[in-house]
Amino acid sequence: MTSEPTRSHAKSVASAFVPRDAGQRAITRPEAKRLLSCLVDDLARHVDNLHEEGVTEVACASEFSSASQPKSITSVKVVQPQPKQNIEHPTSNTEHRMEEIDAGAKLKAIAQTVAACKKCGLHAKRRQAVPGQGNMHPDILFIGEGPGEDEDKQGLAFVGRAGQMLTRLITRMGYTRDEVFIANIVKCRPPNNRKPLPAEMNMCRPYLEQQIAVLKPKVIVLLGASAFEGLIPPKAPGITISKVRGKWLEYQGIPTMPTFHPSYLLRNQSAMWDVWNDMQLVLTRLGRTPPPAPAKGK
Ligand code: SF4
Repeated sequence: MTSEPTRSHAKSVASAFVPRDAGQRAITRPEAKRLLSCLVDDLARHVDNLHEEGVTEVACASEFSSASQPKSITSVKVVQPQPKQNIEHPTSNTEHRMEEIDAGAKLKAIAQTVAACKKCGLHAKRRQAVPGQGNMHPDILFIGEGPGEDEDKQGLAFVGRAGQMLTRLITRMGYTRDEVFIANIVKCRPPNNRKPLPAEMNMCRPYLEQQIAVLKPKVIVLLGASAFEGLIPPKAPGITISKVRGKWLEYQGIPTMPTFHPSYLLRNQSAMWDVWNDMQLVLTRLGRTPPPAPAKGK
């Protein structure tokens, strides 16, 4: 039985750090450090796996120990092999982490573009743009209308009173805000919290589309009329959020659930039952058991 863990991992490291062609993105220093740390973890796990297989000594290939020595495996000792148990392949782990790094870099690039965007008139009065925040690979992407005053101040989506209502809903669903992604149809605050104009939503939508392509959420939840009209424009007049809420739509193959905006719930508490009904459908679609409905007034 032979094994070359040190050689194969060194090749993984080398191939990860050396671009294969001019079209590939260079890895930044922080990314490189994080990747190297991941590879060390993978290597340690691989050695553990070998140990479970009965390998007590691993070979040291000469090209990694001394250039003057012959390129050969020096020794491998095997004792009483044990059955394999769910051994993770180190390469797939590494690929997954590379995807994570890539998704983070893409989201950051979108946020930087949004921060500098002046495509529509909403840039004129914003304190800052609000690209959205949350998990890079969420089960659920919540999409609202646009930043309000608190969001405009803090640069974060849904942090005002409506945001607190959304947080309660997310928690009730069994998630934390960090486990989902929260964004808006327009990234800059409309003056006096007015509804964004169709032209403004059209100009801003590409940023959201780019985010969705990176996030690949399992389900999208559209919060309110603007989110619905902005992402999936109704095909005929008269199709309102009240008519479509609770019914599954689809965006780019992703199941999409329209429901009321949290700020509407602040004014109409009875609508909470409708929203909770919609979220139960979302949880069922995600294979989760919906918790009991909230008690009245909560
Ligand atoms: S709302 Fe969107 S399109 Fe308009 S300036 Fe802000 S980021 Fe650009």
